[in-house]
Amino acid sequence: MIEAAIRYKKPVRIGVNWGSMDQALSQRLMDANAASADPVSAEEIYREALVQSALENAAKAEAIGLAKERIILSAKVSRVQDLVAVYRALAARCSYALHLGLTEAGMGSKGIAASSAALGILLAEGIGDTIRISLTPEPGASRTQEVLVAQELLQVMGIRNFTPLVTACPGCGRTTSTYFQELAEDIQTYLRARMPHWAKEFKGAEAMNVAVMGCIVNGPGESKHAHIGISLPGTGESPVAPVFEDGVKVATLRGDHIAEEFKARLEAYVARRFARIAA
Ligand code: SF4
Repeated sequence: MIEAAIRYKKPVRIGVNWGSMDQALSQRLMDANAASADPVSAEEIYREALVQSALENAAKAEAIGLAKERIILSAKVSRVQDLVAVYRALAARCSYALHLGLTEAGMGSKGIAASSAALGILLAEGIGDTIRISLTPEPGASRTQEVLVAQELLQVMGIRNFTPLVTACPGCGRTTSTYFQELAEDIQTYLRARMPHWAKEFKGAEAMNVAVMGCIVNGPGESKHAHIGISLPGTGESPVAPVFEDGVKVATLRGDHIAEEFKARLEAYVARRFARIAA
């Protein structure tokens, strides 16, 4: 595989795995640690073995002709603290591109929380060049959630935008029904569905921030901070929904077609706010 990559000038990911570590290297480090006047924990030895193994394999690949800039290092570990420590060490000791991913992160919210914690720390420190979120899917479910979570992680960290995201409050005793949560979900789904079309026509629409808020307490304030936002009526408020664009109130929606009217406003806003891509 490396020979083909050298011939065709392709990048190569060199991976080392916590679960199938180089036993001879681990043993050497363990023996040296046992003889040391100031021994460290077994956990630190395993982390060091993983780092050394990755660097040694990269050096071997370079020795047979693979260019340094085509090497991507990947260290597979399944605990947040280990991943952070191993990648901090790799970043300090080499200039290879680094692929981040918490392996065996698990299912659903646990996998998302663990992956986001680990990758968030490293990305905030400027460590990492490619990422993967590994989630165990529900039986029969597709793997698209992994891609969605990876994109949203990069987007909420301000690294790269993929699709407009909805800012929504959690809702509370002031929300009169589930309509506000349904609208927030409906609008996020709509934005995801429309982005591939907007991407062909307008520059920068993926960075748009849309607010869908549940009542007057924080609704108008948060909506003013978004590119475009709507504040639904809470308990005891008159049944109207003000819409804000670029911090200015531009309309008040009411009645049974608030969702459709807000979507029409989104379309008009995108067409007006973002530069059209030349045909
Ligand atoms: S904006 Fe209103 S509905 Fe939303 S969490 Fe705050 S108080 Fe509750």
